Amino acid sequence: MIFEMKEEIKKKCKTCGVPKSLDEFSPNKKSLFGVRPDCKICRTKIARQKYRYDDNYRKEVLENKTIRNRAKKAIGPWWNFSKQL
Ligand SMILES: [Zn+2]
Repeated sequence: MIFEMKEEIKKKCKTCGVPKSLDEFSPNKKSLFGVRPDCKICRTKIARQKYRYDDNYRKEVLENKTIRNRAKKAIGPWWNFSKQL
């Protein structure tokens, strides 16, 4: 029942101004509808632009990626991990 209602609710994106269903927004528990004010498409666009023009942001993203990859390599795939246990 809750899901049916959720689909009918349309929220206007703060950035592009297009009304979209809540599925098209990233979840954010703190906000009123439980989603972020701008849609996923706009968020991707903003992130891409930021990545291109903001040197600090790009460094941050690249560092996060390397940290994640390092962690992956250290632990290995999940089946290796379960064998170790
Ligand atoms: Zn949008």
